[in-house]
Amino acid sequence: MNITIIGTGYVGLVTGAALAALGHKVVCVGREKGKIEKINRGTPPFYEPGFGELLKNVQKKKLLSATDNLENAVLDADVIMIAVGTPTSNDRIDLSQVRTVTKQIGEALTKSKTYQVVVVKSTVVPTTTEKVVLPLLEKYSKKKAGRGFGLCMNPEFLREGNAVYDALNPDRIVIGQYDGESGLYFAKVFKGVKTTILFTNLQTAELVKYTANSLLATLISFSNEVARIADNIAGVDVMDVWKGVHLDGRFSPMVDGKRITPGMLSYVLSGCGYGGSCLPKDTKALFSFAEGLKVETPILAGVVTINTTQPARMIDLLRLVLSDLKGKRVALLGLAFKPNTDDIRESPALTLIHLLKNAGVIVVCHDPMAYKEREPLELQQLGVVLAETAQEALINADAAMLVTAWDEYKKLTPGLFKQTMKTPILIDGRRMYNKNFFKKEGIVYKGIGLREI
Ligand code: NAD
Repeated sequence: MNITIIGTGYVGLVTGAALAALGHKVVCVGREKGKIEKINRGTPPFYEPGFGELLKNVQKKKLLSATDNLENAVLDADVIMIAVGTPTSNDRIDLSQVRTVTKQIGEALTKSKTYQVVVVKSTVVPTTTEKVVLPLLEKYSKKKAGRGFGLCMNPEFLREGNAVYDALNPDRIVIGQYDGESGLYFAKVFKGVKTTILFTNLQTAELVKYTANSLLATLISFSNEVARIADNIAGVDVMDVWKGVHLDGRFSPMVDGKRITPGMLSYVLSGCGYGGSCLPKDTKALFSFAEGLKVETPILAGVVTINTTQPARMIDLLRLVLSDLKGKRVALLGLAFKPNTDDIRESPALTLIHLLKNAGVIVVCHDPMAYKEREPLELQQLGVVLAETAQEALINADAAMLVTAWDEYKKLTPGLFKQTMKTPILIDGRRMYNKNFFKKEGIVYKGIGLREI
């Protein structure tokens, strides 16, 4: 099938490459010339493990290209997917990008003589596809949904850092359909993909996505709430608490004599909070959407509040060992919101940097990927020193704070912290290091959810 995807971000491009790998002819529509040229040269515009290879592969077979000509790309397509950004502004969903491209798709559809299906892949609050996208398409195409064109809502579940695997091996495909014909037509895209397809109406598909993300965020914030309780009970390490909880057979059952550890358990752990381009904005958007319905959502409110204040726990821990922070040098290890991505959007590291700078701290950051290709605007505005290596960040530091659990940080030894830093203080925001070993080797170790006697 000919598939056009509007949006060349993490979702649009990775989905496009995965669909091309299935044999479809995919055109990704972007608006930045430089990025389009990069994609057409086979160079990924962002870091995502395995993506460079996948992109080169599908380009060699001439199955994926990028363009800024939206009209031509729409007219050539059987299926048109909207994968533009849906950020929050003032804690509400900002649909301006979706509105703009929907209008453009509608205008292009006036010239189309064949049946085409428009698919909303961007995360949008329930009823957006029906109440915003559908009327705009009908208005600008001068056609009626159903007979004139098909309409679906297909939420995306890929995880940055695992996006290529997730896009090639989806654990489920949810198709919200305007009518049966739209759903069946769109489902042909996934012919040969071994997974479960769930057909729903449009608004259910929209709510599935928000519920999935809000549940993950709830697990994380609940884990952080427990860490706050543990912090106040001498002798408790929250990591031991989680071990005891995780061993519940309903969380990690024994299969063929071996205990399995479901991926979901990685969300039931305490740390310095969640970030990224999805969980923070989606929880806030769902909260304000529910507010609009006059539905009270105290759980969601708590999830957001705990997460917003969680990075400050790192400062509380630092103050236990360094009373006066003014003029101190702190090495911040990790800027990306999680390992294996260069994405720093809403990373807890950014909040932490603000807090540290407000306390008069000199912040030296390191991240293996976040500024490797180019320095994101958010970083330029922060006024921090960016180190080339973790060791360089640690030089002469009064304390180090681990924010992102990159594999390369696991290899940092107590000896290296001791030799490089002015004082070997380590605040572990991901509980990644072996506290007993580090302490034995002379590191002043503090971690989220750890209260020593
Ligand atoms: P992104 O910001 O990385 O990419 C959005 C892209 O849309 C950008 O490249 C932007 O240039 C492009 N765009 C905006 N307006 C355009 C226009 N008029 N014409 C052409 N291109 C235009 O966003 P993303 O992370 O890829 O997310 C896209 C959507 O998918 C969002 O709704 C997000 O919530 C959802 N989502 C994201 C993830 C994720 O892990 N990033 C996972 C699941 C769902």
